[in-house]
Amino acid sequence: MKSTPVTANGHQLTRLGLVNCYLVREADGFTLIDANLSNSADDILAAARTLGAPIRRILLTHAHVDHVGSVDALLAKLGPTLIEFTSNARTLPLLQKPPDKSLLPYESKEEIRGGLPGIDARPTRLLTEGERYGSLLCIETPGHIPGHLAFLDERDGTLYAGDALGSVGNLTVSGYPPWFFPNVGTWSKATAVASAKKLLEFPIARFACGHGAVNPGGVPALRAAIAKTTA
Ligand SMILES: [Zn+2]
Repeated sequence: MKSTPVTANGHQLTRLGLVNCYLVREADGFTLIDANLSNSADDILAAARTLGAPIRRILLTHAHVDHVGSVDALLAKLGPTLIEFTSNARTLPLLQKPPDKSLLPYESKEEIRGGLPGIDARPTRLLTEGERYGSLLCIETPGHIPGHLAFLDERDGTLYAGDALGSVGNLTVSGYPPWFFPNVGTWSKATAVASAKKLLEFPIARFACGHGAVNPGGVPALRAAIAKTTA
C-alpha cells in the first residue's frame, strides 16, 4: 500500500493505484477515514505503525465496497485500543447485510448504485451535519449515495471528500467522471452537484478524494468541476 503525505496532519494510503483511505493525526493517534477494499487491514495497520501512532477511530464517508472493505478486520485487530467506529444515521441501513436501499421521502428517486457488501460491525457513534469530530468538520454531501459525508480538517484546509468528488485527473463532481475512469456507482447526479455547490462555502485548500491524487486547487478547482456539470 502506497503512503503519501497530504499535509503534516494527513496521509493518503493507496491500494492498487486507485483506492484511497486516509490517516488523520490527532493528539491521541490517528483517525482512519474509510477502510479501503477487503484484505487491506494489515497494510493499513503497518502504515500507521510506520507513521508512529495508533489508529484510535475509524470514520466512514459512505458504505460502498471500496470504503468499508476492511472495517470488520480492522475492528477485530485493533480491539480495545480503538475508541470509536463512526458513521451517520442515514448510512446505517446501507451497512446492513443485505443493505436496505429504501429512499427517504425527500430523496431523489433514482436507484442507489454501487457495491454495498454490508459489514458485521455497528458504528459506536453517529455524526450529524456541522459537528466537529476532533479536527474534522462533518459536512453532509449526498449524491454519490444518500448519507455521504465529507470532512474538512480545519487546521490545514484539507477536505477529505470521499466520493463526493473525484480527483483522477482534474477534480470532478461525483457522476461526472473523466472518460477514462467511468463512475458507475453514483445515485443522484443532481444531488451530487448541489452538494458540490454547498462545499464552495468552506475554506478548502485541497481535496483528498476516495480515488485519485490529492488535488491542491482549492475552491477554484471546485468551481471548475461544477462548471463542467452544466457544459
Ligand atoms: Zn469509492
